[in-house]
Amino acid sequence: MYYLSTRNNKLEESFENILFQGLSKEGGLFLPAVWPKINLNEINNKNYEEIALQIISPYIKQTLSDENLKKIIDQTYKNFRKKNIAPLVKIDNNKYILELFHGPTFAFKDYALQFLGNLISSFLENKNKKITILGATSGDTGSAAINAFKGKNEVEVFILHPFEKVSKVQRLQMTTVEDNNIHNLAIRGNFDDCQKIVKKLFVDEEIQSKTTLTAINSINWVRIISQTVYYFWSFAQLDEKTKKDGLSFIVPSGNFGNIFSARVAKYMGLPINNLHVVTNENDILNKTINSGLMKIDKVKQTYSPSMDIQVSSNFERQLFESFNRDSNQLVKLMNFFSENGYQTLPSSIIADIKKHYKAYTVSDLEILNTIKLFNEKYKYLADPHTATGLKILEDMNDSNINISLACAHPAKFGNAIKKAIGKDPIFPKDLENIFDKKEKMTILNNDLNEIKNHILNKI
Ligand SMILES: *Cc1c(COP(=O)(O)O)cnc(C)c1O
Repeated sequence: MYYLSTRNNKLEESFENILFQGLSKEGGLFLPAVWPKINLNEINNKNYEEIALQIISPYIKQTLSDENLKKIIDQTYKNFRKKNIAPLVKIDNNKYILELFHGPTFAFKDYALQFLGNLISSFLENKNKKITILGATSGDTGSAAINAFKGKNEVEVFILHPFEKVSKVQRLQMTTVEDNNIHNLAIRGNFDDCQKIVKKLFVDEEIQSKTTLTAINSINWVRIISQTVYYFWSFAQLDEKTKKDGLSFIVPSGNFGNIFSARVAKYMGLPINNLHVVTNENDILNKTINSGLMKIDKVKQTYSPSMDIQVSSNFERQLFESFNRDSNQLVKLMNFFSENGYQTLPSSIIADIKKHYKAYTVSDLEILNTIKLFNEKYKYLADPHTATGLKILEDMNDSNINISLACAHPAKFGNAIKKAIGKDPIFPKDLENIFDKKEKMTILNNDLNEIKNHILNKI
């Protein structure tokens, strides 16, 4: 298996190269040259770790043996709080919730980042190589990455988060980690500003000449493929009769990473009927998919901060596929978009996207109402991101098996929960201790040079 880039389909990169590189030199995102197919009969009697091995192996096996991959997978998921890792909870006829908050930092980002952390360590072992991890977070990626890489001496970690725009628990989960290799940078701007700076640093020659920069955002291919595992895992948890007509997934979305992992599952042969993309009031994905006009608006702060995103990086991967992997056409489109802040998609592209995806927007008020409704009607307390999906799940009356993703633990978003149900969520023991710890972060302006110099001084 080799890898090409959305902006250069002639590329033939090895897995090891794309693991350590964020973007391709042309600024594109990496994708595998072909989609391996999975035999569904082999999925049915397996546990999470076994399915992970089967899904991830075809992408890595030229570089890493199955035996070593298995070790990394087992080491990764043994730290999760549920034995079946990502439980599928039935709440009504045909309606399910896939719980993805049983990792160390209580959001779905752990499922990919814990694995990525262990994978990177295993590649660095015996190599005497140091790398610098650089990432932007709208809240959950940061804490998951910091937890995955803390104390690893061969890795310096710089995480940019938008100052005062993440929840308190999200911030504390990042800033109370004491290890010297962890650097929290709070940027006076929004998530899109942070992401833009990270993308510029990834193509900055001065930084590149001093260190190996590695991306941990969902532009990193390993994140996408390790999330694909839990879509197959939900299929494995259903009995034969229930799943005979296929499944649909409802995915609260921001950077289009999680839902694209579902699209990958479909390429690999999982019988998925509909992929429901749900946004909060930052609704660019909804507008793009429903009207074809991809246009950046100002980022609004909502109750679901991890979805407060206007530039959805991974959407480029889908566009590339919809262009039948024609990178020339994609480059033209993306250049126009980044120069002008908008782009009208060709009708053939929209038609292709609409074959697989349906898109929705859920307002802040609907988020609160949905948290309240599910708490009363189903005795299910959902976090505000999960609630965007549950609004769509509740309204759904088709005959599909609909699985909505629970993306984070409600205790991470106490303010919204209190507004919705009038009381605080119960704190899991592992989260409680962060309130008494000292915080460590540096506040910087939304200024490329200021941030670049800060990083250069520390590596
Ligand atoms: C990251 C995140 C999302 C958005 O996922 P994308 O892969 O960026 O689309 C939604 N909810 C929560 C809780 C998240 O942490």
